[in-house]
Amino acid sequence: MKTVYNFSAGPAVLPKPVLEKAKSELLNYQNSGMSVMELSHRSSLFESIIQDAEQLLRELMQIPNNYRVLFLQGGASLQFTMIPLNLAQNKKAQYINTGTWSKKAISEAKKLSNVTVEVIASSEEKNFTYIPEVTEEMIDPDAAYVHITTNNTIEGTAFTTLPKTGKVPLVADMSSNILANEYNVEDFGVIYAGAQKNIGPAGLTVVIIREDLLGLSEVPSAMLDYKIQAESHSLYNTPPTFSIYMAKLVFEWIKEQGAAAGMFKQDQEKAALLYQALERSSLFSSPVNPANRSLTNIPFITGNETLDKKFIAEATEMGLENLKGHRLVGGMRASLYNAFPIAGVHALIDFMQAFEKENGG
Ligand code: PLP
Repeated sequence: MKTVYNFSAGPAVLPKPVLEKAKSELLNYQNSGMSVMELSHRSSLFESIIQDAEQLLRELMQIPNNYRVLFLQGGASLQFTMIPLNLAQNKKAQYINTGTWSKKAISEAKKLSNVTVEVIASSEEKNFTYIPEVTEEMIDPDAAYVHITTNNTIEGTAFTTLPKTGKVPLVADMSSNILANEYNVEDFGVIYAGAQKNIGPAGLTVVIIREDLLGLSEVPSAMLDYKIQAESHSLYNTPPTFSIYMAKLVFEWIKEQGAAAGMFKQDQEKAALLYQALERSSLFSSPVNPANRSLTNIPFITGNETLDKKFIAEATEMGLENLKGHRLVGGMRASLYNAFPIAGVHALIDFMQAFEKENGG
């Protein structure tokens, strides 16, 4: 099989040992004679899987006991609605607009007629190429929460320091850098993430929520009610069983890598290699403000669309897959999530250098 490095922003590369393990257990999980996909979600075998997954995530992120871990569906996108629905009915919610996904979170919250949405800072006027400053004076002490996107997948920016929100809960969309950074869970009221980048296959959404934020509002749907989901230990209805199993295997792998701290170190190394190569290059450059650069999503451009296209086509032929930038940003983007191997970063840099030599710089 040819060596392929998958730079996809999501669904993204999974650790090879995890895929091997899943393959070895695919038809006969723990001598049950059944695949995980065929197990009842009420069976003791599956209950152990979901409990182990939660326990591992608690260990990896050092999640305190007064936080609940929920395994839900609907992607991070459904959280754009669940968060205001559960936390901000008849209240104000404050948002920081740092990219396409923040904008979607804002526009979904605005659809709820009894939620007042206030955008307190934005970097939209500069195509989201930086993270705006947020001062304590901007925070309304009566707000239900302040929402941020810790890592902006499309634009390639990330918060390096968290806004200080005092007693107002900080709610974070961590879809593209959960477990790739050493966050202190206690700094947040809610953390949520679609699984398909650093956790496992698509179809699973992880929510980590402080207990006192459960049951604050009447929610007109059991499925959308955090309290009901927490009380039923994410088994209110049939959960995405196979994705939860895969997440458990990924968590075991992350534990072997030194938990979130170990991943952060590896991700810093990988990102530094690519950013240094971009600094050295006279053809390629990063469009993002140096102080706010993401470790996990790294956009780069030549400044010439025809050359970008040529680069992407030739890179794909070399097995460097999915380097095309998001249609809103253009150029290229390398997503270097936890499971992305450092050898792939070296392969990309070697190819960039060869391309630069051939195409002038
Ligand atoms: N938020 C961020 C930061 C994302 O990167 C994405 C997807 O790429 C989403 C939200 C949407 O996630 P989902 O497709 O799970 O709804």
